[in-house]
Amino acid sequence: APGLHIVATPIGNLGDISLRALAALASADRLLCEDTRRARKLLSHYGISRDLRVYEEHSAERIRPYVLEWLRAGEAVALISDAGTPLISDPGYKLVRDAVEAGVPVHTVPGPVAAVAALTVSGLPTDSFFFAGFLPPRAAARRQRLSELAGVEATLIFYESAARLMSVLRDIADTLGERKVTIVREITKRFETHYRGTAEALLAELEGPALKGEIVVLVEPPTTQGEVSDELILQQLEQATRTMS
Ligand code: SAM
Repeated sequence: APGLHIVATPIGNLGDISLRALAALASADRLLCEDTRRARKLLSHYGISRDLRVYEEHSAERIRPYVLEWLRAGEAVALISDAGTPLISDPGYKLVRDAVEAGVPVHTVPGPVAAVAALTVSGLPTDSFFFAGFLPPRAAARRQRLSELAGVEATLIFYESAARLMSVLRDIADTLGERKVTIVREITKRFETHYRGTAEALLAELEGPALKGEIVVLVEPPTTQGEVSDELILQQLEQATRTMS
């Protein structure tokens, strides 16, 4: 179908590609990817051989007008990223924004997202979650961001690099306190591991050589248990005065 197709690909296990994704990749007039080497590896695994064009952070500004031209001409353009769902901590948002503005149809071929996959095994509440993407790399900005998120009544989900994990755990312990934290590493891959505990406990557990691989960090919502809201105080006061009179 003409229009922009946002196509999710696996985050590790190549078995996680969908039938619709394969069809979209095979049939699109043009295929945009972040990195041609990685895309070729993925496609050749499924026996698809295609011309690829690069759409990534640095070249996106320059390439976007051409893509919009193809779209306006009625072509089917598929976008994939290195892993998972495009636009989610990956390029694509501005392309979709401009396609929508230009009245071009946008289609989704949904599939893996590391954040949601991690949430489902985290053991933390899933009714409400806040995906915060990557934290700022610099400590001061990171702490600032974490304190801004301290009041959010939802499970917090962060993408992180394994190299920064220990500093991030330190900052979580200092700014968010005694909350449960889950680290999910290498989801759907051979060395998938789940670590659970408070940030402080995980700091102790993971001391030593840095973890390898890709990780998602999840933090439980602030516990309201034991904390008394103004509303509750008022309610109880009213009740007490009623019994007195
Ligand atoms: N678009 C991707 C998605 O849908 O999840 C995310 C791309 S972002 C550039 C890469 C980050 O996602 C990694 O640093 C890591 O935090 C997370 N990630 C991706 N694949 C992962 C995996 N298999 N296991 C754990 N984390 C993963």
